[in-house]
Amino acid sequence: MKQITIIGCGVVGAAIAYELSLSPEFRVTVIDQAAAGQGATAAALGVAMAVISHKVKGRNWRLRQASLCRYPSLITELETLTGHTIQRNTQGILSLCFDAEDLPRWRSLQAIRQRQGYSLEIWEPGQVGDRCPHLNVDRVAAAIYSPQDFQINPSELTQALVAGAKANGVEFHFGQPVVGFDRADAAPEDSRFCGAVHTSTQSLTTDAIVISAGLGTLPLTQTLHQPVAVGPVLGQALRIHSQAPLGNPDFQPVVNGNDLHLVPLGSGDYWVGATVEFPPETSLDAALAMPPEAGRLEAVLAGAIAYCPALAQGTITQRWSGLRPRPQGQAAPVIQPLAGYRNIWLATGHYRNGVLLAPATALAVRDLLSLLD
Ligand SMILES: Cc1cc2nc3c(=O)[nH]c(=O)nc-3n(C[C@H](O)[C@H](O)[C@H](O)COP(=O)(O)OP(=O)(O)OC[C@H]3O[C@@H](n4cnc5c(N)ncnc54)[C@H](O)[C@@H]3O)c2cc1C
Repeated sequence: MKQITIIGCGVVGAAIAYELSLSPEFRVTVIDQAAAGQGATAAALGVAMAVISHKVKGRNWRLRQASLCRYPSLITELETLTGHTIQRNTQGILSLCFDAEDLPRWRSLQAIRQRQGYSLEIWEPGQVGDRCPHLNVDRVAAAIYSPQDFQINPSELTQALVAGAKANGVEFHFGQPVVGFDRADAAPEDSRFCGAVHTSTQSLTTDAIVISAGLGTLPLTQTLHQPVAVGPVLGQALRIHSQAPLGNPDFQPVVNGNDLHLVPLGSGDYWVGATVEFPPETSLDAALAMPPEAGRLEAVLAGAIAYCPALAQGTITQRWSGLRPRPQGQAAPVIQPLAGYRNIWLATGHYRNGVLLAPATALAVRDLLSLLD
C-alpha cells in the first residue's frame, strides 16, 4: 500500500482524497493549515461551465468532459455515504448574448457540441422573455441555453468529499501548516525522492506527495527549491434575498450576462458575482493587504440589475471575497509532477474553474499515482 500525503484541503485536495480513497492501493493523509474548504473554495459560486465553454479540444476540454462525466456518480456516492444532500442547481446555464456578431461563434460551438453528444440551444429574445420573464431582453440578441451544465455549492461539496473520504479511511490533519520536507532521511541515495512532510507539530513519512495548496503552492515549492508561481486574482460576490423567486419559480437556471453570474439558490436567494481583479503586484502578501474595493462589487450588482431589474428590489444579505489561485507563465490548471522530484505532484492553479475541474483533477492525479513504482 502506498502512503500518499495531500497538502491542501480545498475542493481540489478533498476531491483527490476521496477519489484515492476508492483505490485499495493507497493509504491517504490530508494536511491543511486551516479547516477544509477555507481558501478560494469558500468564496466560489460553484458554476460549472463545461458544455457552454468555448474550449472544444485539447486538455482543457478533456478535463471538462471528464468532470461532466464523473459529477453525477460522484454526487450519488457522496450523498449515499454521508446521508446529506449537496445543494445544486441542475436547471442548466443560460448565457445572454448582447452582440449579434457573436452568434456565428455560438452556432459553431452548438454544432461541435452536437457532434460531441451534448446539447446547446440558441433562443431568440422572445423565447428568453417567455421562459425567464425576470430578464430584461431589450439589449439581448439571443441566449444560449446549456441544459447539461450546472451549479453546485462548493462548501457543501467539499464537506461531503471530506466526510466520504473519512468514511473510506482517509486521515485528516487540520490546523497544521506544512512547513518543510525531508529528502535525505528516507532515501539518502535518492535526492529526487521526498520521504517526509513536516507540519508545525509533526513529521509524516510518505511515499508520494500531492500539492493541492492553491495559493500556498509558491511558498511550498520554494521550500523544495522548485518554485511554481501561482498568484492571486481577487473575486467579490454577494447574496441577495428576494421576497419571491424571480421569474418562473419552476425554471430557475443559472444566468450569465457579460461574465456576471446570477445563481438561484432556492427560497428567493441568489448569489451574484463575481469580480475578476488582478492585483497591481502579483505577490500574495500585497493582495492580502489590499482591501476589496466596494465600488467594484457595486458595478457587479449594477451589471446584474441591468439584465435582471427585479434584483434592485432585493435585500443584500451577504458580501464576500476570495482569491483565485492563478498560475503564472503556464495554463490553468497545473496537474503534473514537480520538476526535480519523482514522487511529488502538483494539482493546483485552477483559477476560475476549480469547482468544475476538481473531479477531473482527482481522476488525473489517481492515474499519475498509479504509475508510482
Ligand atoms: C469569487 C469567486 C468565485 C468563483 N466561482 C467559481 C465558479 O463559479 N466555478 C468554479 O469552478 N470555480 C470558481 N472559483 C474558483 C475556485 O474557487 C478555485 O479554482 C478553487 O476553489 C481552487 O480550489 P483549491 O482546492 O485548489 O484551492 P483552495 O480552495 O484555495 O484550497 C487550498 C488549501 O490549501 C491550504 N494550504 C495552503 N498552503 C498550505 C500549507 N503550507 N500547509 C497546509 N495547507 C495549506 C489552504 O489552507 C487551503 O485550504 C471562484 C473563485 C472565487 C474567488
